[in-house]
Order: sequence, then C-alpha cells, then structure tokens
Amino acid sequence: NSVGIDAGGTLSKIVYETESGWECKKIPTVRINEITEWIRARFSYPQLHITGGKAGALLEKLSFPAKKINEFEATCEGVKWLLEKNNLTTETSPRFMVTNVGTGTSIHCVEGDYYERIGGSGMGGGTLLGLTYLLTGEDNYDNILELSKKGDSRSLNITVDDIYSHEVPPISGSLTASNFGNVAKMKSTTLSKEDYIAAVVRMVGETITTMSVQAAERLNTEAIVYIGSTFDGNETLKEIIRTYTELRGKKPFFLENGEFSGAIGALMNN
Ligand code: ATP
Ligand code: MG
Repeated sequence: NSVGIDAGGTLSKIVYETESGWECKKIPTVRINEITEWIRARFSYPQLHITGGKAGALLEKLSFPAKKINEFEATCEGVKWLLEKNNLTTETSPRFMVTNVGTGTSIHCVEGDYYERIGGSGMGGGTLLGLTYLLTGEDNYDNILELSKKGDSRSLNITVDDIYSHEVPPISGSLTASNFGNVAKMKSTTLSKEDYIAAVVRMVGETITTMSVQAAERLNTEAIVYIGSTFDGNETLKEIIRTYTELRGKKPFFLENGEFSGAIGALMNN
C-alpha cells in the first residue's frame, strides 16, 4: 500500500503499488480535495510519501500520516530508476544532467549517489501556458498542443541568416538570432494563433536547451535527461529540444513517464 506523490505547482503526480505493479495518475494540484478523496477511496492505511513544492499544502489536507521527501533527491532517484529500467544506465554514465521542465525549470547533475541542483529558470511549462493565453486566449492544454503543431514557429523570429543577409554567417544561419524579434513581419503580415503558439514553444525549447547544454558543458558530460509534464504529448517541444541539443553536441534523452520521476523517487524512499 505504498503511494508516492509529487505535488507540483501545476500537477500532482501519483505513483502507487497494485497487485500487477505500479500505476500512475495525474491530478491538477488546484483540485487538492480530489487528491485526498482519491487516496481515501482507494486505501485504508496507505504508506504515503509526498514530495514537491505543494507537499506541505497537501499534508495539511490529509487525514493520513505521511512522510515528506526532498523534491530534488526524489526526482534524481526516480530518474536513476527509470534509466535503469530502460537500460540507459551505461549511456548516461558516469554523470548526467536532469532538466526538469515543470511549471518552472530545474537543472540537476547526478553521479552515482551524488546529486546537486545546478540551476534553473522561470522559463518552463507555465511560461508556455501563460504566454499562449496572453497571445491567443487559448487555455485548454490539448487545444494548445494541436494548434502548436500547425504553426510556423520561425515566422515571428529573426534568424542568423536574416541578420547576415549579404554574407556567410559565422555560425549556422538557421539558428534563431532573436525569438519574437521580427517586428517588421508582425506589422506587415497577419500571423495566426498557430504561429504564435509554435513560436512560444520554440522559445521555451531553445532557452531550456541552451541552459542545459551550458550546464552539461561545465560539468563535463554529454547526457541530458529531459523530464517533466511539459513534454507530455508535446512532440513539437521534444523535437525542438532533441534537434538543438544534438546540434550543440550533447545527447538528449526523453523518458517515458519521466514526469513521474519525483513521485517514483518518493515512493522508493525509505
Ligand atoms: P513544478 O515542478 O515547477 O512545481 P509541476 O511539478 O506541477 O511544477 P509538471 O507537472 O512537471 O510541473 O509540468 C507542468 C506543465 O506540464 C504545465 O505547465 C503544462 O505546460 C504541462 N501540462 C501537461 N499536461 C497538462 C495538463 N493536463 N494541464 C495543465 N498543464 C499540463
Ligand atoms: Mg515538478
């Protein structure tokens, strides 16, 4: 009857033991009563391990005793477990980066039993939702994903080629020189909702990649494991990050169920 919960700023991730193995579930953290109800309906004496920034808020609402687990430790432990399960331990040895793109973004370095938070950024899944809402009025996650696929993410940007228009650029011309920098085009053309969203996804993806690559460079490793619900169903974002990470000479990994790393790590913690 073990249950691991990662109560994040946006989504609560739950991993729990059943007779046939582990099951996963997500509930928006704002619906905190639904989470407590779900636990109550399912377990009589659960062994609860809770992590994430909203762990304290959830603990207050629970009628069960629960153990609070450090979020960064749980996340890194969960990632290690998933890497092992997917036979990726050798490929990510001796050291790898974890970039957790949640509401915000956290970057960690993991080596054996050692882990450290290296840095982070406010550029994350929340940015994707917030800027999209401001620009288009869309706030449904599935709609946003559909629209982002149809847009041209480059139409609002200035590329290196645009700047070096009359000579060979010193770096790849297709790189973004300025996200959302193409004011001239914004004035002269009608841009679609789809283009706006695609451009937001690209900006978030490129920024996160740049930060992750620089951190990996500094820590002398190639492997970057990208996790977080922001990748859930977002093939566009994954593709931008995969391509750009490889272009920068690093090895990107996307884990199936990676967004449950924190909950898995919490569940396993004794
Ligand atoms: P943090 O770790 O920063 O506290 P979190 O753990 O809640 O936040 P995640 O669950 O990893 O963060 O990711 C949240 C992001 O996932 C959202 O900002 C959004 O971009 C994306 N997302 C995926 N599915 C949904 C959904 N059903 N509803 C809302 N956002 C979703
Ligand atoms: Mg989180």
